[in-house]
Amino acid sequence: MSIVVVGAGLAGGTAVTELRRLGYDGAITLYGREPHLPYERPPLSKDVLLGTKPLDAVFLHDRAWYDEHDVALRLDTAVTSIDRTEHRVVTADGAERYDRLLLATGATPRRFPEADSAGVPVAYLRTIEDSERLEAAFVDGTRVAIVGAGWIGLEVAAAARHAGCEVTVYERSELPLLGVLGPEVARVFADLHRAHGVDLRLGTSVTADDLRRADLVVVGIGAEPTIDLARDARLAVGNGVLVDEALRTSDPAILAVGDIANHLHDRLGRRIRVEHWEDAIEQAKVAACTLVGEETTYDRMPYFFTDQYDLGMEYVGSVGPGGYDRVDIEGDATVTPDGGVGAFRAFWVADGHVVAAMQANDWDASGVIRASLGTTR
Ligand SMILES: Cc1cc2nc3c(=O)[nH]c(=O)nc-3n(C[C@H](O)[C@H](O)[C@H](O)COP(=O)(O)OP(=O)(O)OC[C@H]3O[C@@H](n4cnc5c(N)ncnc54)[C@H](O)[C@@H]3O)c2cc1C
Repeated sequence: MSIVVVGAGLAGGTAVTELRRLGYDGAITLYGREPHLPYERPPLSKDVLLGTKPLDAVFLHDRAWYDEHDVALRLDTAVTSIDRTEHRVVTADGAERYDRLLLATGATPRRFPEADSAGVPVAYLRTIEDSERLEAAFVDGTRVAIVGAGWIGLEVAAAARHAGCEVTVYERSELPLLGVLGPEVARVFADLHRAHGVDLRLGTSVTADDLRRADLVVVGIGAEPTIDLARDARLAVGNGVLVDEALRTSDPAILAVGDIANHLHDRLGRRIRVEHWEDAIEQAKVAACTLVGEETTYDRMPYFFTDQYDLGMEYVGSVGPGGYDRVDIEGDATVTPDGGVGAFRAFWVADGHVVAAMQANDWDASGVIRASLGTTR
């Protein structure tokens, strides 16, 4: 049997690792559009951008590992189409047969065309090169405008302030991260960034005119799943590639994992697509099991972490489309004027049950927040 993996990112790299760990000894070919070995992206907006972690530390393995484990690497090579009848993936200079195909093509930053008309350099953050470019640009006094106060926008704001830049963040909602956290906890992030000197402009639709005052514009308004290959191959898609509990697409010979996977979540009882580091890893492990014929299902609750200034937090769970009734905050969630934050836990409750939970600066509570999901409150 031969397995082809398209997308040499976190999920693709983890899947090939797991396949070999499970004892699969058939052929594996890993295609990646980027020139790099599979790497982790979270440090690109945190430690690497802050200059506190070397770039070398982001790679899953060194090149020798792929040779030793007989993984054929096809880097700098985009797969341009999938021929499902012939079981082949096609590239600009050839094609490769597969018995099983794993799609792990990730996500692509959403563009903001208005920024291009400002006449100022515009940056996005997804790749190593993007991160290097920002790190070089972040010097004392640089005026940085950030469009979007989501996770990436806020982490970039923290790194830019750390480097002494003047930072303005523009956000359409009334609070940063409002959609994910709700007003009770989103307020902490607004206070945090303001205390660290960020000019946070909320409830505003930014114009090219606003951006002209900056030396650099960074756009962080979310990402779209990279599903062109799947869609062109007529796999079932819709906010990602639709997969079942074992991460199989509408074609049982093809699986999808990571940012592109819109999977049927048993415990949540609905479809969900998440763009999170842990989910990419854990889905890749389940997909590897499915590929070698071990029947498993993916039912982990979504998990996310962030680091901004001295605030480190983890969030687990998912508030469904019905929203939540209240948030119980335990501990001290106030931000001091110098930007300090205490330790606290937050529990989002719907119909008397915890649907999501978070800890901030309280790493002993990692297990507590996970265990709280589904409990009565
Ligand atoms: C800056 C940044 C910070 C983040 N921080 C956090 C965090 O703090 N916490 C958290 O939980 N998550 C974080 N994330 C999200 C996390 O990194 C992603 O969820 C994870 O990388 C998804 O893995 P993936 O393998 O699905 O996609 P990716 O890692 O994006 O890999 C997909 C790869 O597929 C390649 N590809 C696409 N199309 C083709 C093709 N046709 N042929 C060949 N190759 C192709 C792409 O070039 C890419 O290299 C962050 C993301 C970014 C960008």
